[in-house]
Amino acid sequence: IKPLRDPVRGRQMLAEIQARWHTLAARRGRPIVLMEFCGTHTVALARTGIRSLLLPEVELKSGPGCPVCVTDARDLDRAIALASVPGVTVATFGDLLRVPGSRGSLQEARAQGADVQVVASPLDALQLAIAHRERQVVFLAAGFETTAPATAVTVQAAARQGVENFFVYSLHKMTPPGLRAVLGDREIGIDGVILPGHVSLIVGRQAWDFVAEEHQLPGVVAGFEPVELLAALGLMALHWDEEPQILNAYERVVRERGNGAAQQALAESFVPVDAHWRGLGLLPGSGLALAERYRQWDAVVQFADCWRDLEPPKPIAGCRCGDVLRGVCTPLDCRLFGQGCSPATPVGPCMVSQEGTCAAYARFAVAK
Ligand code: SF4
Repeated sequence: IKPLRDPVRGRQMLAEIQARWHTLAARRGRPIVLMEFCGTHTVALARTGIRSLLLPEVELKSGPGCPVCVTDARDLDRAIALASVPGVTVATFGDLLRVPGSRGSLQEARAQGADVQVVASPLDALQLAIAHRERQVVFLAAGFETTAPATAVTVQAAARQGVENFFVYSLHKMTPPGLRAVLGDREIGIDGVILPGHVSLIVGRQAWDFVAEEHQLPGVVAGFEPVELLAALGLMALHWDEEPQILNAYERVVRERGNGAAQQALAESFVPVDAHWRGLGLLPGSGLALAERYRQWDAVVQFADCWRDLEPPKPIAGCRCGDVLRGVCTPLDCRLFGQGCSPATPVGPCMVSQEGTCAAYARFAVAK
């Protein structure tokens, strides 16, 4: 890892990349606009200063690649309703705890007596169920293709072990449909995409070919260390004049076809369904629901009565997370940024999550 964080090498690469992008932007007569889809990239680009150092030649827009941020308010409202049912324990990752639905957060529900437990993995939630057979433990499974395989094998383990008091509320989403929705939005206007490294480990480089084939945009799969990010930006600049293609600058991790075992686990446990994304709406085939054979462990099926009477979610007053997630504005365009909304007092999910764009802008003082 050390060479990937080498400041001398990083500075040399940066100078070369800046010069190359300068030429390309001058030729185009405007800045080149790239989108980083992934929330971890958003944080890495802000933390390393690369986002600011590429200006004014390259403008980086953040995408909807933060799974907590894109969790829809209606799902959070349902989770809160579920947590209020006597005998039910909701197990969740810590990031989801403070995210607001339209009727408060899971943290507030817990303060009012609901049993909400923070777990580090789906397997922890299964262990919780095994240790407390008198409770019905519902795991809120949020995340993209990176985290979904762990849920997939956990539900398989629950079935094998006959654990009848464990359930999964799947909030899992797939990134290619999410990116497809963003690229189809004419308001955004981007020239290229920095593609998520962790997700690509599972889905493979080829999963992104549609970006070049359907949208005629270049893309590059990137790692997360400073030198890796610069290498990805350099590789993209080098191939800028060619036919759009999807490059792989994260070859130490990402293969052409991804991880077959993880894909198999996903295919056995889940089926694609339409899913609501905060900011993007209902995206066809973008969610993962438990397969029919795991119906008994599917909280969406088993607890449907809990949210039958819930009203549709209300928007959070003044919060522009939806626009931030679509890349049509930056956190700096939200009038609440730093004026009531901060990591200590978050108003919207993009400020709550560690991978949220607003949180990254606030923590690393991104000024433009
Ligand atoms: Fe929402 Fe806060 Fe971000 Fe504004 S700054 S978009 S209120 S999270």
